[in-house]
Formats: sequence, structure tokens, C-alpha cells
Amino acid sequence: MSYRIGMGYDIHRLTEGRKLFIGGFEVPYFKGLLGHSDGDVLLHAICDAMLGAISEGDIGAHFPDTEPKFQGIASAELLIKVYELVKNKGYKVVNIDTVIIAQEPVLAPFKKNIQNSIAEILDIKTEFISVKAKTNEGLGDIGKKEAIATYTVVLLTKEAKGE
Ligand code: MG
Repeated sequence: MSYRIGMGYDIHRLTEGRKLFIGGFEVPYFKGLLGHSDGDVLLHAICDAMLGAISEGDIGAHFPDTEPKFQGIASAELLIKVYELVKNKGYKVVNIDTVIIAQEPVLAPFKKNIQNSIAEILDIKTEFISVKAKTNEGLGDIGKKEAIATYTVVLLTKEAKGE
């Protein structure tokens, strides 16, 4: 077996008048994340982690925010395209670990929903996905409820020929 690891980070500004999508799940809140796409800060970090693992650049290179066709696109579609690239290179997900940093809303009640949503998008078992959520202890822009950030680590594996 060969293994590849990748990491991803993203941050989006919270703004009124948009829906809040995290991991493809719509979290009930009076603000959403600003972005050219649906602003799904967690799926973007997962995309970047996967692209990093296969040394294929980053989400901005694959889906430029200057492209009108990506305006308002569901980030699940972007992640599906990224995972196609991964699979075309012969890799599959071993596991995904994520951290969401949000002062508000409280995400603990939705962690399972977010985990299930990511598993559904990638068509892999939920046990291979970990979703952790924490506040920023009131510090900085995230602490002031102006943004949500995420970190992701992805491990991929490929069966070597003849194994
Ligand atoms: Mg982003």
C-alpha cells in the first residue's frame, strides 16, 4: 500500500442574508458564509487537503472565483470533482479529520449531521470522518463572530500493483 497525506485550511466571513452551509449541511443560523460558491468553509478545506495529498494544487486553481460558472455552486459538487481526481489517480480515502472553529452558532448539536453529510457526498462510511467543533475563546475575528475557519487532514491510500 502507498499512502498520501494532505492538509487544508479555509476561512470565510459571516454575513446576513446567506444560508450557512458547513460540510454540505445547512446549519440553522441568521447569517451565512460569504463566498463565490455557497461558501462552505469545511468542504473547501477538505478539497484542499485532498488536492494537497495528490499534489494537485489548490481549490482556487481548479475552481477560480473569477469563473461565472462557479458562482453560487454547491461546494459538494466541487468536492465530488476533486474526489474524482483522487480516484482517477488510484487513491481512496482512509480517513478525514476536521476541526471547525466558530464562536457562533454552537455546532455541537450538528456534528453528526455534518459528518453524515460529508460521508454521503464522498460515498464513504461515516466512521472514516471525524468532525470536531470549538470556539475561538472570544479572540480575534472568529471570536467576534465575524468568520468561521476550518482545518482538515486527509489520508489517502492506493494499493500497489501486485499486492
Ligand atoms: Mg473557501
